[in-house]
Amino acid sequence: MTNAIGLRCRECGHDYEIAPIYTCEWCFGPLEVSYDYEAITAGTSREKIASGPRSIWRYADLLPTKVNRAVDLGAGFTPLVRADRLAAALGLGEVWIKNDTMNPTNSFKDRVVAVALSQALEFGFKTAACASTGNLANAVAAHAAHAGLKSYVFVPADLEAGKIVTTAVYGGNVVAVQGNYDDVNRLCAELAGTYPWAFVNVNVRPFYAEGSRTLAFEIAEQLGWEYPDHVVVPMASGSLLTKVEKGFRELHTVGLIDAEPVVRMSGAQALGCSPIAKAWLEGADTIRPVKPDTIAKSLAIGNPADGYFALDVVRKTGGGMAAVTDDEIVDGIRLLARTEGIFAETAGGVTIATLQRLAHEGVVRRDERVVALITGHGLKTLDAVVPVAGPTATIAATMEAFTAAFDVEEL
Ligand SMILES: *Cc1c(COP(=O)(O)O)cnc(C)c1O
Ligand SMILES: [Zn+2]
Repeated sequence: MTNAIGLRCRECGHDYEIAPIYTCEWCFGPLEVSYDYEAITAGTSREKIASGPRSIWRYADLLPTKVNRAVDLGAGFTPLVRADRLAAALGLGEVWIKNDTMNPTNSFKDRVVAVALSQALEFGFKTAACASTGNLANAVAAHAAHAGLKSYVFVPADLEAGKIVTTAVYGGNVVAVQGNYDDVNRLCAELAGTYPWAFVNVNVRPFYAEGSRTLAFEIAEQLGWEYPDHVVVPMASGSLLTKVEKGFRELHTVGLIDAEPVVRMSGAQALGCSPIAKAWLEGADTIRPVKPDTIAKSLAIGNPADGYFALDVVRKTGGGMAAVTDDEIVDGIRLLARTEGIFAETAGGVTIATLQRLAHEGVVRRDERVVALITGHGLKTLDAVVPVAGPTATIAATMEAFTAAFDVEEL
């Protein structure tokens, strides 16, 4: 059962049948899954969702795959944590952390890969592949292993060692390419035309991208079927930001929430790779590709495929964007860990530092219910905090040494 009825060009609206294709033959625009929203409205309800699995598959009525839960490691339904101490530190009112570090391979990419590989099985593919800045590689290798698919993941050779190990351990092929992500991606576009593989970010990208909407569905459900006022989203290609906004609108379309969403969407990037935020800050309509140079490697896409759409969504919803320095990213990681006990990777530092900047600028307001998307776990990018997170003191194993180092009131 699926309520997906086809693929539609986001530029010219031309319709296609469901197939492993991703660009329009007429205008080369990107394709997006289209749904029979009347069928979804008739078939879904809050009760049905509440009785479903505690994963993205509780929203199966809104997902494209026929064989739901085909590749299921339990992605999604991650905690939405009220963050009062962070809010106080930022001078904000109501702040929530969507803690997507709690996914099976510890990043939000498990959502998109679970959908992409379920669809790949349906298409009859035997091999999964991707170009990745790290987290996608983890997720593809793990889900492919679980599904009995072969895998080839292509990563920039300078990736964090941790992300290579946590991909290779699943037994697929890890190909370190001498170049940056955009070089890797170009190679993959060529390979995708040659090998009969499901490339999650090429020929099955339209299905992959749909998985991101589950973040909007979950946030609303976890808020008691209400929308937040403002969501801060880290941007690599920009896809996640656009799909979260789409997800909120769809909740209204299918009658799960009566009111139309009024959710401001804001985008976060690292200054060392900020093509989308730069266009925003300059008021430009076109995105100029950049060469990435930042510790936020999981967001280091210099030529973002959905950048234009992300700009458009942030403009339409009245949000903002910021580009934050590597030092601010590290401070953001520490601030979140210190105030809320949640350890984020560099992308999470980008989100928190952006939230801080936008709060300071008055773009994110005190009277808003704000959700910050924390999309990857801190253990993935330990190197970023090693210089600033050592022992408080190193002492001899004696009482005297401790009391000399710490001035603590005794019993
Ligand atoms: C992939 C990724 C994102 C968002 O990527 P988009 O390409 O913009 O959809 C955000 N955070 C992390 C940690 C990621 O790995
Ligand atoms: Zn088209």
